[in-house]
Amino acid sequence: MNDLIANKKIVTYHKINAQNHLSEHFDVYQGKDILITVDDGDISFYHYMFPLLKKYNMPAILFIITGLIDTKIPFWWDEIVYLLGAEEGEKKVWEVKNWPNHKRLDYIQQLRDNSNKPPLEQVQLTTAQLQEMQAAGVTIANHSHTHPMFDQCTEEELREEFRKSKQFFEDRQLNGYELFAYPNGNYSAFTERIAKEEGIQAAFLFDHKLTGKDYNPYRISRLSVTDQTSVNKLRFILSGWHTKILPVRKKIFNILNGR
Ligand SMILES: [Zn+2]
Repeated sequence: MNDLIANKKIVTYHKINAQNHLSEHFDVYQGKDILITVDDGDISFYHYMFPLLKKYNMPAILFIITGLIDTKIPFWWDEIVYLLGAEEGEKKVWEVKNWPNHKRLDYIQQLRDNSNKPPLEQVQLTTAQLQEMQAAGVTIANHSHTHPMFDQCTEEELREEFRKSKQFFEDRQLNGYELFAYPNGNYSAFTERIAKEEGIQAAFLFDHKLTGKDYNPYRISRLSVTDQTSVNKLRFILSGWHTKILPVRKKIFNILNGR
């Protein structure tokens, strides 16, 4: 595991809309120590990212939501947008991330019950696809069972997330249960303790920072990119300068605006 992470610049993608700039990204990655990670396990990984990983023989971790594999269950944030419409839905998604987990679940159920739209279905990855990718060198890893915000969960809910995903990995001979990416990057001292107790060996954040040399294995930083990130912006992000320059820009903005 240490070989996978140490001295690497770790980038994170989510849903990949189309290949867009992806193959150019791989040109940039050549000769650099890059670890590609992708959260949520959207089916687009299989179509757009997996072929490039094979072509360029690069390491990658796919963090999957185990409760969605082999189903047509949609991502819950997509379902909110579907039920409420884009504008209101996207605002609501941010709002409910700050709610206690049971309140978020009750709210989504209410939206479903009160809607006359047909239920949303999404094509999700299958066990066969995961096993094919693992055999080709992709690390299939853990992004929880249902993607709740871990800082909004009770201890019981947290343990259930870990135990269900552990069972899933064991049943399907997938190897990456111990590598965990926090949904939305949300964590706390409490979630960290439970994660350790449930056998997690490394936990990844979503903080748009470079991993330092003396990284904490339970708070591994990652850089955020998408298939639409331009090559120049990607180079800038990989340099780590965005974390130094952006705060300065903000400071200058505040001074200019008398804040
Ligand atoms: Zn996620």
